[in-house]
Amino acid sequence: MEKKYCCDKFKALATGRKEYGLNIRIVKLSQSFVERGQLTFDRSFMITEGYSGGINECKKVLAIEYCPFCGTRLNKFYKSGDYVQEVVSL
Ligand SMILES: [Zn+2]
Repeated sequence: MEKKYCCDKFKALATGRKEYGLNIRIVKLSQSFVERGQLTFDRSFMITEGYSGGINECKKVLAIEYCPFCGTRLNKFYKSGDYVQEVVSL
């Protein structure tokens, strides 16, 4: 099934190669991370610079709650686990 994205710009950043340029990454947080932070949601949306390996190795990360292009509330739109690109093991 083809994934739907809130807008074309978000799709472009979220589906490009993470090694280059700016990316949007959809990351699942580990259970211990969720519990420590007392979070109600186990996913995080991040703008990153290019990186290889895990997101822990990325030096520039900005967590976002809303799509910077169209204003969609990301955790409402991207509920499905199909969107998760990597799991953070902190
Ligand atoms: Zn959008």
